[in-house]
Amino acid sequence: MKKKRPPLFIRTRNWLRKEYPLPTEVSVHRYDGHKMPKLLGYVELEDDHLKIVIRKNTNQREQSETLIEEWAHAIRDTLAMPVDYSTEAGMHDEFFWLIYGRLINEWRELK
Ligand SMILES: [Zn+2]
Repeated sequence: MKKKRPPLFIRTRNWLRKEYPLPTEVSVHRYDGHKMPKLLGYVELEDDHLKIVIRKNTNQREQSETLIEEWAHAIRDTLAMPVDYSTEAGMHDEFFWLIYGRLINEWRELK
Protein backbone atom coordinates (compact mmCIF):
# COMPACT_ATOMS: atom_id res chain seq x y z
CA MET A 1 0.00 0.00 0.00
CA LYS A 2 1.24 3.44 -0.89
CA LYS A 3 1.92 5.82 1.93
CA LYS A 4 -0.23 8.93 1.79
CA ARG A 5 1.69 12.15 1.32
CA PRO A 6 1.31 14.68 4.12
CA PRO A 7 -0.53 17.92 3.25
CA LEU A 8 1.45 20.71 1.56
CA PHE A 9 1.69 22.82 4.72
CA ILE A 10 3.30 19.96 6.67
CA ARG A 11 5.68 19.17 3.80
CA THR A 12 6.62 22.87 3.61
CA ARG A 13 7.27 23.03 7.35
CA ASN A 14 9.39 19.86 7.27
CA TRP A 15 11.33 21.13 4.26
CA LEU A 16 12.10 24.47 5.98
CA ARG A 17 13.20 22.71 9.17
CA LYS A 18 15.51 20.41 7.24
CA GLU A 19 16.97 22.80 4.65
CA TYR A 20 16.90 26.09 6.57
CA PRO A 21 17.25 25.32 10.26
CA LEU A 22 17.30 28.43 12.43
CA PRO A 23 19.74 29.05 15.29
CA THR A 24 16.78 29.36 17.66
CA GLU A 25 14.22 26.64 18.31
CA VAL A 26 11.03 27.29 16.33
CA SER A 27 7.48 26.22 17.07
CA VAL A 28 4.83 26.46 14.34
CA HIS A 29 1.16 26.96 15.25
CA ARG A 30 -2.04 27.45 13.31
CA TYR A 31 -4.83 29.59 14.73
CA ASP A 32 -8.39 30.06 13.52
CA GLY A 33 -8.90 33.23 11.51
CA HIS A 34 -11.23 34.87 14.02
CA LYS A 35 -8.41 34.90 16.57
CA MET A 36 -6.24 36.92 14.19
CA PRO A 37 -8.58 38.58 11.69
CA LYS A 38 -6.07 41.08 10.31
CA LEU A 39 -3.06 38.85 9.78
CA LEU A 40 -2.16 35.81 7.73
CA GLY A 41 0.74 35.08 10.04
CA TYR A 42 3.42 36.43 12.32
CA VAL A 43 6.61 35.45 14.07
CA GLU A 44 7.58 36.47 17.58
CA LEU A 45 10.27 35.74 20.12
CA GLU A 46 8.79 33.95 23.11
CA ASP A 47 11.20 33.44 25.99
CA ASP A 48 14.12 31.82 24.20
CA HIS A 49 12.36 30.34 21.18
CA LEU A 50 10.65 31.61 18.06
CA LYS A 51 6.94 31.16 17.70
CA ILE A 52 5.43 31.26 14.22
CA VAL A 53 1.66 31.54 13.99
CA ILE A 54 -0.22 30.96 10.74
CA ARG A 55 -3.87 31.68 10.07
CA LYS A 56 -5.58 28.33 9.68
CA ASN A 57 -8.72 28.83 7.63
CA THR A 58 -7.13 29.56 4.28
CA ASN A 59 -5.95 26.96 1.77
CA GLN A 60 -2.78 24.83 2.03
CA ARG A 61 -0.95 26.91 -0.55
CA GLU A 62 -1.67 30.20 1.15
CA GLN A 63 -0.77 28.82 4.57
CA SER A 64 2.48 27.45 3.14
CA GLU A 65 3.40 30.75 1.47
CA THR A 66 2.71 32.58 4.71
CA LEU A 67 4.89 30.12 6.62
CA ILE A 68 7.69 30.72 4.11
CA GLU A 69 7.31 34.48 4.57
CA GLU A 70 7.53 34.19 8.36
CA TRP A 71 10.51 31.84 8.05
CA ALA A 72 12.19 34.39 5.76
CA HIS A 73 11.66 37.06 8.43
CA ALA A 74 13.27 34.78 11.00
CA ILE A 75 16.28 34.13 8.73
CA ARG A 76 16.57 37.86 7.94
CA ASP A 77 16.70 38.55 11.66
CA THR A 78 19.86 36.44 12.02
CA LEU A 79 21.91 38.88 9.89
CA ALA A 80 24.25 41.26 11.71
CA MET A 81 22.36 44.20 10.27
CA PRO A 82 19.42 45.57 12.21
CA VAL A 83 15.81 45.37 10.99
CA ASP A 84 13.66 48.50 11.21
CA TYR A 85 10.47 47.06 12.64
CA SER A 86 8.80 50.46 12.83
CA THR A 87 7.77 50.51 9.16
CA GLU A 88 6.40 48.02 6.67
CA ALA A 89 9.22 48.82 4.22
CA GLY A 90 11.78 48.42 6.98
CA MET A 91 10.48 44.98 7.91
CA HIS A 92 10.40 44.00 4.25
CA ASP A 93 13.79 45.33 3.24
CA GLU A 94 15.95 44.14 0.32
CA PHE A 95 17.61 41.41 2.38
CA PHE A 96 14.23 40.03 3.39
CA TRP A 97 13.11 39.86 -0.26
CA LEU A 98 16.31 38.12 -1.34
CA ILE A 99 15.75 35.43 1.27
CA TYR A 100 12.04 35.15 0.56
CA GLY A 101 12.62 34.94 -3.20
CA ARG A 102 15.13 32.15 -2.82
CA LEU A 103 12.85 30.15 -0.54
CA ILE A 104 9.85 30.58 -2.86
CA ASN A 105 11.88 29.53 -5.92
CA GLU A 106 13.06 26.35 -4.21
CA TRP A 107 9.65 25.63 -2.72
CA ARG A 108 8.06 25.72 -6.19
CA GLU A 109 10.30 22.78 -7.10
CA LEU A 110 9.34 20.91 -3.93
CA LYS A 111 5.97 19.36 -4.88
ZN1 LIG B 1 6.20 39.98 6.11
